[in-house]
Amino acid sequence: MTYKSLSVYSSIIISVFCFLLCIRKSCGQTEITPWQNDKKGAISITYDDGNRNQFKVALPLMEGVKLPATFFIITGPIKGSHYRGQFIGRPVEELIKESATIPTSANNFFERASASRYLGYAGASESFDQNTGVSIYYNRADAFYKSGKKDSAYFEMDKLYQLVREEKLERGKYTSLELSQEEGLSWDKIKEYAAKGYEFASHTVTHAHLAILDTANMFYELKKSKEDISDHLGLKYTFSAEIPFGIDDPRVMKYSMPVYQALRNRMTDPYLEEINRGFKADPGLSAKPYVQWQRGPVTNTPLWLMKSWVDTTLAHHNIWLVLVIHGVGNLGWEPLARPLLENYFHFIKKDENDLWVATFGDVARYIRERMHARISEQNKDHKIIITLSHSLDTAFYDLPLTLKTYLPDDWGKVNIVQRNQLRIGIVKKDKKGTYILYQAVPGQGNIILSKLRR
Ligand SMILES: [Zn+2]
Repeated sequence: MTYKSLSVYSSIIISVFCFLLCIRKSCGQTEITPWQNDKKGAISITYDDGNRNQFKVALPLMEGVKLPATFFIITGPIKGSHYRGQFIGRPVEELIKESATIPTSANNFFERASASRYLGYAGASESFDQNTGVSIYYNRADAFYKSGKKDSAYFEMDKLYQLVREEKLERGKYTSLELSQEEGLSWDKIKEYAAKGYEFASHTVTHAHLAILDTANMFYELKKSKEDISDHLGLKYTFSAEIPFGIDDPRVMKYSMPVYQALRNRMTDPYLEEINRGFKADPGLSAKPYVQWQRGPVTNTPLWLMKSWVDTTLAHHNIWLVLVIHGVGNLGWEPLARPLLENYFHFIKKDENDLWVATFGDVARYIRERMHARISEQNKDHKIIITLSHSLDTAFYDLPLTLKTYLPDDWGKVNIVQRNQLRIGIVKKDKKGTYILYQAVPGQGNIILSKLRR
């Protein structure tokens, strides 16, 4: 036998020996649990539009049972905001004049649609049944454009600009239901709520139809909203966003995705399947590591159905149920009644041992950190030393991950040290062996586990 084959032979023997030792002790294995604290699934409760009753009615109910939530707020109308809705472009008088001789086409549609709310006419309501107002034409143009009927969208713009030229609309400042329902909300109040753990995230400056805005105005809606949130709450709160009306228009997504880390509209992570509000696919059939399952309860949604979404989440291991709520009480789009919300929140709370209820941003962070994590483990001087890191931007991705490390069977209590902070954990057992669950922040130095000796 040559020296080389002897060496290969002996290393095989050593490997087999170590393998047997590890089987006996289930050692040498650290994994990141799919959800924080090794829960079976996750739920994020999210609210759109920042309407007053979300804070007056729903927030106190959630506070009563200690449930977190995410509020997608329209930043323009908030007291103390630096940026209000405005048109970025040529003077609107020029556009109005031009519209008398140049019909709306692909060349000017986005510009005219972007300016349409800033022509000096009230458009008091977004509803379709009122027969005057800028918003009707603006809304219809958006609906036609999104359904591919571009000529009909251009026609709506032509009608609007004609009415403006003929002074046939009510003069005044544009507003919409969403904007008026948020009135009264201030950054001071938002800061108070944020300090309690609620996530605040962007729903643009004015709740605009982004699909029919030109690039300059789309960026204004996206970036100025982000700036106000960053100025008042800090960079951390610019993580999540929801582009109004739940759209996933490719052009809007292309411009929005680089501005915010996680859009509720659309996340393109390959390990995440998305079932949006309008889709009926069974989340239990997905083979991907994670499924973001959005459900949007409306006024007539029965409570039993809403509860069944929670049960479905519990019955699998990869579902992130994202609830999308708009109106509350008697205010807002498709409002949910207070007693129903109260009942539902208690129902969710009772399963909190198995369900991770967290903000939209925290669940998105957790999933991405876990899927981008690198982990290594070393046994030295009766200690287990874990290195945990990820390749993401640590300005946003600093959420602790839950690690599960299998230990020798004779460990009972464990010292867990990261960055000189000592915690003591108690081991648990499953069919693979004795393990410890603990939280660790990626990239914050080694985590050292040692047996606590009495
Ligand atoms: Zn909205």
